[in-house]
Amino acid sequence: MSSPPATTRWPIDDILARTDLAALLDEFAQPDQRARRWHCPLDDHDDNHASVTMHRDQRGHERWRCWSGDQGHRGDAVDLVQAVRGNTRAEAIEELATRAGLQPGRELPPIAPRKPTAPPAVALDERVVAYANICARLLWSPLGEPVREWLHNRGLGDEVLRANHVGADPGRDRLRRSRGIPYGAGPGATFPALDANSQIRYVQTRALEPRPGYGKYDNPSAALAPNPRLTWAVPPSITQPGQLLVCEGIPDALIAAQAGYRSVGLLGTNALDPTVAARIANLALRDHLDVTIITDNDDNGTGKHLGQQLAERLSDGGLVATILEPPKGHDLTSWANESGTWAAHLDRRGLDARLRGDPPTNTGGAALQAVGWAQ
Ligand SMILES: [Zn+2]
Repeated sequence: MSSPPATTRWPIDDILARTDLAALLDEFAQPDQRARRWHCPLDDHDDNHASVTMHRDQRGHERWRCWSGDQGHRGDAVDLVQAVRGNTRAEAIEELATRAGLQPGRELPPIAPRKPTAPPAVALDERVVAYANICARLLWSPLGEPVREWLHNRGLGDEVLRANHVGADPGRDRLRRSRGIPYGAGPGATFPALDANSQIRYVQTRALEPRPGYGKYDNPSAALAPNPRLTWAVPPSITQPGQLLVCEGIPDALIAAQAGYRSVGLLGTNALDPTVAARIANLALRDHLDVTIITDNDDNGTGKHLGQQLAERLSDGGLVATILEPPKGHDLTSWANESGTWAAHLDRRGLDARLRGDPPTNTGGAALQAVGWAQ
């Protein structure tokens, strides 16, 4: 006669709902609070990158994941206890039940409110979207002509401009606006940042003639729109389906999109919040894309540093990315305008890999949960 299987006295959903995974990770793993990450708590992983992030799955359960790529370094709170203690599932559940104050025969204690796992979300103000949409219409009006010409001179054609809702801000004396919308001292090109569903989430206004002492770009105030850190550019038609190019800034991402590539634009060189690599990895692994990072080849090395940092974070997530450098002093826009054959460098690389017989990259991963709180 065999012994009955170990059973638990409480529904697993109750245990998980009463467990604060972030607090548990704080206890079991070394936190890197600044970035809301943890160093991997598992003994066999000497993790100096703080590779563990948290997210909520579709059922609302909190989960953790170590981006080392080890399939065992992830799961819910029960998996975490098991992994750290090396005990059985029943024992891990028992420990969590005890921690949550669950006792046989007693009424269940209330579920405690938990600390938010993300900064309080700022809702996108509809005035920001309205501004981007109005400017997108104005681009094709007589008022938008100087901006259209400026965009064309930068190598951007009408198709890609329309597909990405690029617009013309004629300036504040021609277009009234509320506080917090880009100021508009003079005419500027508006570049919306789009989410993965091509919805406008943000907008950056590039002054045609930047005022001395101000940056080239003006953004909405943080109170009106959270900076999404990246944009998913819309190619007018995808002619390079297996590839994803990661570019610095929205205009460069549009150049890549125009050439038929799926592309991501990073918004600013400080764009690497913890969700950026996760969001890119997520999509690339899901759709089996080869990822190439094309950052500015500027004199001070900012672009190079950004590219290397991103490649490293993606590789923590099990994603292979290649860096392609424009010639010295160029970004993708100026490179593309100087040489119509820039994309041949990408094709060449793929061809070299096939000639060497390399296996295709980024085909092994299952779809990942994005850790992001932004879209
Ligand atoms: Zn790990």
